[in-house]
Amino acid sequence: MRGALLGMSRSSTIKNVVTRAPVTRGVVTRFVAGDSTADAVEATRALAADDLRVTIDHLGEDTTDRGQAARVAVAYVELLGALHTAGLSDRAEVSVKLSALGQYLPQGGEDLALENARTICQAAANAGTTVTLDAEDHTTTDSTLGVLAELRRDFPDTGAVLQAYLRRTEEDCAALAVAGSRVRLCKGAYQEHESVAFSDPHAVDLSYVRCLRVLIDGPGYPMVASHDPRLIAIAADLVTRAGRSRDSYEFQMLYGVRPAEQVRLARLGHTVRIYLPYGDDWYGYLVRRLAERPANLAFFARSLVGRR
Ligand SMILES: Cc1cc2nc3c(=O)[nH]c(=O)nc-3n(C[C@H](O)[C@H](O)[C@H](O)COP(=O)(O)OP(=O)(O)OC[C@H]3O[C@@H](n4cnc5c(N)ncnc54)[C@H](O)[C@@H]3O)c2cc1C
Repeated sequence: MRGALLGMSRSSTIKNVVTRAPVTRGVVTRFVAGDSTADAVEATRALAADDLRVTIDHLGEDTTDRGQAARVAVAYVELLGALHTAGLSDRAEVSVKLSALGQYLPQGGEDLALENARTICQAAANAGTTVTLDAEDHTTTDSTLGVLAELRRDFPDTGAVLQAYLRRTEEDCAALAVAGSRVRLCKGAYQEHESVAFSDPHAVDLSYVRCLRVLIDGPGYPMVASHDPRLIAIAADLVTRAGRSRDSYEFQMLYGVRPAEQVRLARLGHTVRIYLPYGDDWYGYLVRRLAERPANLAFFARSLVGRR
């Protein structure tokens, strides 16, 4: 089921059918803040009122058009300006997918994505905040880490994302567990082959814990991105054992997923950051969320039936 859904996330035919179907707005709005910059700023304000931090994702991926890649960069610059004007740039940073900035273009894609990402990093620095580069499928990992290294020369606080399901990730964690390095650790959301990724959920969890240990024992800034109660408890224990101060790590969760747990952790004094997507290109993101949890799929199916 998970594989079939993740396959759907990259099918343009199914995308056309689903996005034109009379899906209730409720399904999308559970996971997506809205279409516009103003929607993203308002949702950030509401989360900040609950003492939550935010990382904002302008939805879109797999761009194969230079003009579209440039428009995505402009959207981020506009968003960062709006956050600064609203006095929220100390609460919110942005998450960026290099594939939305042109990384997949056959010629010069990586250079184009780097230049667009540089524009966004400069706008973030001007606003007094940071950028994190999302992780996508494993074919992009080397390219993304290469772009990260380039960006970090000028913008050392640019964050990376590593996916515990990839067999290579423990080594990547060791390489990135250095002073000043912000690393988000997640399980991984794409369909990957057994040759590069663990497929057994327990093996993914074990890898996650090994990676956590490397990041938490190192001098960098770990960002623990998971809704999994066991992994959250293990991370809380590891940071305590390592004697880390509360401002030297953070928990991260997705907008709309376990909101009560988000607030509970923040009230315990942990820094908690919510990944907040906005924009009208929500299809790939939504399908990955449905693939993570059968109950979400049932919710989606009930909404479709309910509209008929
Ligand atoms: C802040 C953040 C940023 C991320 N960035 C990336 C990225 O850049 N690249 C990438 O590949 N992946 C990313 N992910 C997604 C991640 O890889 C996982 O696919 C996702 O977080 C689900 O894994 P989990 O650790 O929550 O554990 P799971 O084992 O999937 O879930 C544990 C429990 O959490 C709850 N839960 C989990 N997901 C959902 C859901 N969708 N709806 C409702 N309840 C749910 C359920 O109670 C479930 O039993 C990110 C996740 C987060 C939280």
